[in-house]
Amino acid sequence: MDKKVIVPVEAVLTKCAELPVGFVPTPSAPYRTHRKAVELTQKPGRPRLKTAPGVPQRVPAATAGSRVLMWKQDPSVTEMGTRKAFLPGVILEGPRDARITFGQPGIAAVSPNTFGDFILSPNTDQFDAVHTFAVVRQTLTMYQRVLAAGDAAAPLPWAWNNGSNTQPLEVFPHGLPNVMNAYYSRTDRALKFGDFVPSGAEERMYTCRSFDIVSHETGHAVLDGLKPKWILSSAPPQTGGLHESFGDLTAIFLALSQLDQVEAVIAQTKADLHDKTFLADMAEQFGLALGRTNGLRNADNDLKLSEAGNEVHAISQVFTGAMYDILADIFTYERQPGMEDDAAVLHRVGGYLCSLLMRSLVAAPDMAATFADVANQMLRLAEQDGKPIEYRNFIRNRFTLREVVVSDVPLTDDVTPNVTLAPAVVDEPDAMQDRRACCGTMNHAQYFDLEDVLEAERQALARWCQGYKTRHDHTEPAASEELAVNK
Ligand SMILES: [Zn+2]
Repeated sequence: MDKKVIVPVEAVLTKCAELPVGFVPTPSAPYRTHRKAVELTQKPGRPRLKTAPGVPQRVPAATAGSRVLMWKQDPSVTEMGTRKAFLPGVILEGPRDARITFGQPGIAAVSPNTFGDFILSPNTDQFDAVHTFAVVRQTLTMYQRVLAAGDAAAPLPWAWNNGSNTQPLEVFPHGLPNVMNAYYSRTDRALKFGDFVPSGAEERMYTCRSFDIVSHETGHAVLDGLKPKWILSSAPPQTGGLHESFGDLTAIFLALSQLDQVEAVIAQTKADLHDKTFLADMAEQFGLALGRTNGLRNADNDLKLSEAGNEVHAISQVFTGAMYDILADIFTYERQPGMEDDAAVLHRVGGYLCSLLMRSLVAAPDMAATFADVANQMLRLAEQDGKPIEYRNFIRNRFTLREVVVSDVPLTDDVTPNVTLAPAVVDEPDAMQDRRACCGTMNHAQYFDLEDVLEAERQALARWCQGYKTRHDHTEPAASEELAVNK
């Protein structure tokens, strides 16, 4: 009798009907026995790390990493649902890693299963912890890759990191109970997400369950690590607009970095990005809770700078809208359905535009950066990257139509090489930011220089006291003088 132990294939097949939500296929015991037997008897694998003279040794692929289950968009985008994702790198109970940690009192830390994975049931506290961690991790990884040098990912520090402080960003998925908002806090070194019951609704809405909201807030944290002066309310309105827009664009680029999401966009729009799509709609569930059918905001808009005034949220929409148009233009230009799958092209174009924007923001001034500064950096870098001139034409045309820059030649002509375009609509020299419609981050008191206001008041008090002392030679103020001062 043949001594080989071969488990019949029938015993290995998993019954696929009615799989539970969040099912991730994991090898069953019979299947592992079967694989082992096949490997040993019928199909021995290649020996690992075999060395031979003159042949470079193969480096084993890093095996660290975990599978997670997460929302693709948010619970309201039912046609998308959940996805399984693989997060490379070491992820420990929490979840946490070197850069991101989970710190939510009231939610037990999530332990990985025996395969090192974090697979939980949706609409539970622990799922929320994993989903939120996963989106923050994916966002940071996306930008680390953009700024990577050689084969090493860029460290991309948080705003508080330095040679002696490597503290991670702390994530609180349920950090703001009964608050209709979410924010990034530099002083708390944290992302906090609110949950609330929308008026007229029965179910509680959790902002942490939104892919868009979590990636938007993480975008603020990433940009704050690179340009710490941009988030302050004392910066010009356009600088604030860049911060807010970067949050929205982060959500778009992160979706475009995920192949299944890109395929869904192509199928939903028939490859026309100006058709209605979840990609341009931000925070759908949150928007619905506020009675808006296009999400909290819509990247596919036609706003111009002269229409936005000092309102940072509106200003941000001008930049986001221009970038979305440029994305659609480059995608249309690069499409060759007869040669390559549309989803593959959109994935690549999204990746390039993400990289171009990030590098342009890094190259822009550390203080008081304008939209024109970033647009000109995009033109310069696209030229330096050796991209077709059409790319720069799209960038120039869209930013010209949005009244960000003035073109030196008619828009029907090709862009001038090495050009730096003049700004069109600029902030008034003393313009103050109006952050009313912005997200929780931009409205957080810590970015409003309020300590400076208090300090100015303290200084004024000190000056008055000094003057009083001089006049009265250390005597206490008389009641009549106090009254006079109070008038
Ligand atoms: Zn924001």
